[in-house]
Amino acid sequence: MKRFSFLIAAALVLSFLAGCSGASGRGASMTRELFAMDTYMTMTCRGENAEQALDAAEAEILRLDALLSTGSTDSEISRLNAEGGGACSEDTAALLRAALDAYRETDGAFDCTILPLMELWGFPSGTLHVPTEAELEHALTVTGSRHVSLSGSAVSMDPGTKIDLGGIAKGFTSGRLMEIFRSFGVESAIVSLGGNVQCLGSRSDGAGWRCGIRAPGDGASSDDIAGVVTVRDKAVITSGSYERRLTDEVTGRIYHHILDPSTGRPADTGLASVTIVSSDGTLADALSTACFVMGEEKAEAFWRERFDEFDMILIRTDGSIRVTEGVADAFVTSRPCAVIPK
Ligand code: ADP
Ligand code: MG
Repeated sequence: MKRFSFLIAAALVLSFLAGCSGASGRGASMTRELFAMDTYMTMTCRGENAEQALDAAEAEILRLDALLSTGSTDSEISRLNAEGGGACSEDTAALLRAALDAYRETDGAFDCTILPLMELWGFPSGTLHVPTEAELEHALTVTGSRHVSLSGSAVSMDPGTKIDLGGIAKGFTSGRLMEIFRSFGVESAIVSLGGNVQCLGSRSDGAGWRCGIRAPGDGASSDDIAGVVTVRDKAVITSGSYERRLTDEVTGRIYHHILDPSTGRPADTGLASVTIVSSDGTLADALSTACFVMGEEKAEAFWRERFDEFDMILIRTDGSIRVTEGVADAFVTSRPCAVIPK
């Protein structure tokens, strides 16, 4: 079931890739598909060195996955979690630093110490456990990035605290892929890491890349789209309550995988998804998760303080859309849609 929804998310982006006339620049357009970071990925780029660029990109994805995966006991992050800290690689340190910055900047809405809570709910295993108040309270005592310190590449954590960079890793990775493509002289590329998109340059006809934003909601079929945003050199990263869900067989209640670190429960703010558009993939990923947790009002206030760094598309659970001024002209939808002014 899990893999099924990833495939659909990927298929959605693929259909857009197929609809494009190919990446611009000399050389053939090439596409690579792989399954990594627990999700389905596609990369397309055009250029004389497209194949070597894709080889390097794939190797980098696998390398970062091996560092960051909480699903594998061999990863660097799992070793840090098991040992309560230790020395880590430059990349893990850089990503952890970005996660800790995001924690401060979002007033704790983005919190990479969410792992004990994710485990309590059963997300890593896929078997739902609805926690008791006492269990939640206990897990909350070890949650909070204040329990982590990072000095250079030395990490230390309070007992019981565990790190999960899953809310930021794919955006970091897609940003890294853009650097790799550039280093191979590729001027035109688009990647989708489980529906999280980042692109370089424009299409061969000079137009921007068209990214479909998935329509959330139980009534919607998984490949329905709520709108299309056209961008160049941007990450378009979405966090949605429809992504990974566990259902309580008895009550029929559905629980999704983005937790509010202040309550320990799935964030419930009337938003179905948040899409962040930014030239910084890491920031876009952290903020998609954080703004989902914040809810509409706080997310909009946050955007007003930092509108030069990102834009966002909010889809409410009733299906209506709100889009920030900076991306409004690039966004097309047939749904009710209001522009968020500065
Ligand atoms: P996805 O990975 O589905 O694209 P996100 O970027 O929103 O979506 O990441 C969700 C993942 O981030 C969860 O699976 C979990 O590992 C982690 N996570 C959940 N809640 C938070 C939170 N409040 N802050 C940081 N990470 C979180
Ligand atoms: Mg995220």
